[in-house]
Amino acid sequence: MQIAERSVVSIHYKLTNDAGETLDSSEGGEPLVYLQGFGNLIPGLEKALVGKQAGDRLNVRVEPSEGYGDHDPKLIQQVPRRAFQGVSDVKAGMRFQAQGPNGPSSVVITRVAGDMVTVDGNHPLAGQHLNFAVEITDVRAASEEELAHGHVHGPGGHHH
Ligand code: ZN
Repeated sequence: MQIAERSVVSIHYKLTNDAGETLDSSEGGEPLVYLQGFGNLIPGLEKALVGKQAGDRLNVRVEPSEGYGDHDPKLIQQVPRRAFQGVSDVKAGMRFQAQGPNGPSSVVITRVAGDMVTVDGNHPLAGQHLNFAVEITDVRAASEEELAHGHVHGPGGHHH
């Protein structure tokens, strides 16, 4: 069975950046199970998997625009330290949920200088090429219920 819209696909994958560092991997664990055509995966990877089948291995290089987006300098902001009331030790690397115009988003503190704190709302992988090594382990048709929910049920998916 070939991967198409509405396929439930199981993959093992390894994600590396252009420096060769492993960012994420399913190695040693359960495969990732997703529903094709419902935005469960980043667009560039989903596109590359169309027409493939169980047993296929492929390497996919995803452009930032097809991955987590380009790095947007407008998402980097300076805020006064007093905005972090209740946080005793504000320092670079801390991650927060912030309310933005498009709903909640994750921001990371990148710099603390005196009373000013620099926060970056870009996805950690924004602006990066993503290199996936993928092995497809299973392809099946989605159930009506899975299609109605827009996600996979059972092993590797939602249990509810
Ligand atoms: Zn569900």
